Order: sequence, then structure tokens, then C-alpha cells
Amino acid sequence: MSEHHHGHDHDHHHHDNHFTDMEARVKALETVLTEKGLIDPAAIDAIVETYETKIGPRNGARVVAKAWVDPDFAEWLKRDATEAIASLGYTGRQGEHMRAVFNTAETHNLVVCTLCSCYPWSVLGLPPVWYKAPPYRSRAVIDPRGVLQEFGLILPETTRIRVWDSTAELRYLVIPERPADTDGFSEEELAGLVTRDAMIGTGLALSGETLR
Ligand code: FE
Repeated sequence: MSEHHHGHDHDHHHHDNHFTDMEARVKALETVLTEKGLIDPAAIDAIVETYETKIGPRNGARVVAKAWVDPDFAEWLKRDATEAIASLGYTGRQGEHMRAVFNTAETHNLVVCTLCSCYPWSVLGLPPVWYKAPPYRSRAVIDPRGVLQEFGLILPETTRIRVWDSTAELRYLVIPERPADTDGFSEEELAGLVTRDAMIGTGLALSGETLR
């Protein structure tokens, strides 16, 4: 399940049962592999549970907050995100090769996987449903500004939007700009302002006001 190949993620068609094609295929594979003694369903459940509950966007939020308070770390993140992120202990599946893209006053970054659903699991956990959905995957490239508007994010016309297409080999983490009203905030407080969407690029970091 850790191997990830493009082109295998078909659009889903609903049948009479409640499984999508993909879910039914996954179930069938799991059954066959279990019957052949090749996998232990409990081990798979444990992996899924880990990504659903233990590894999540809080990891990425800590990376962003550290980059905001520590210029050396920010430089490292720009130069070699894989290494910089691994130094905080966030490594593993679907996060082996990372690139951090920094928002600035001039440029906003947005991440998509147009072919399937590549996503930096080690820092963001499991992808949201919309990230995997065909409308987001196609429209993020064709009309990024329109997509951002649907997320409630209206950027100035002068802001350039760069769209990064993830692959199985390279995943992106957006480093949002630090909110202006956060002088004196601790790293932990700052991490609390970094939403998952801010790290995909469909949102911004929350204002410091939200903690007051
Ligand atoms: Fe993908």
C-alpha cells in the first residue's frame, strides 16, 4: 500500500453496494492477500489508524512555525526540505522527497496532484476528500484563482499564483506567510495558527486574533 503509482486511481463509479470501485478493489486485494497469509489485516488497520490520528497536519504546522521563528531553519527548509523536515522527526511514507514552497507578498503557492492524490503524509496526514476529487485536481491548474475563491480565499489580482503538481517522487508543503499580528507569539502558539489548508495553499494562516 505504500507504493504509489500514477494512473491507477480511476474515477469512482457507484454501484448498488456502498463500495466505490476503488474501495471494492482494495477490499478484494486485502482479502486475497490475507487468505494467502501475505498480510495481517490488523497491521494494515494500525497503519491507517496511525495516519488518521497520530500523524496529521500538526506535524506540518510545527515545521511552518519553526520556519517563522528560526531563519536558519527556514533557509534549510528552502535548500533541502526533506532533510530539514526529517530533523524534526517527520519522515516516512509519502514524504520521502519534500519541497517547501514559501508564500510571499507577490506569490501564492497552491499544491495539487493532477494525476491522482499524491500528498505529503508525513507532515499533513491523510489528504482531505476534495484533494482527491477530480474537480479540484483539474480546476486547480486551469483556474486556480477561481478555486481559491471557492475556498473563501480572495487574493489581490497582483498576486501571482504558482501551482505545484505533486508526484509520487516529490511532495510539496506550502509555507504560508506569518500573520502580521503575531509579534511575541511562542512557536507553539504560532503552530496553532497554521491550518492544513494553509499548507496546501487553499487557505492562509489564521490571524493572531484567533488566539486572543
Ligand atoms: Fe498522485
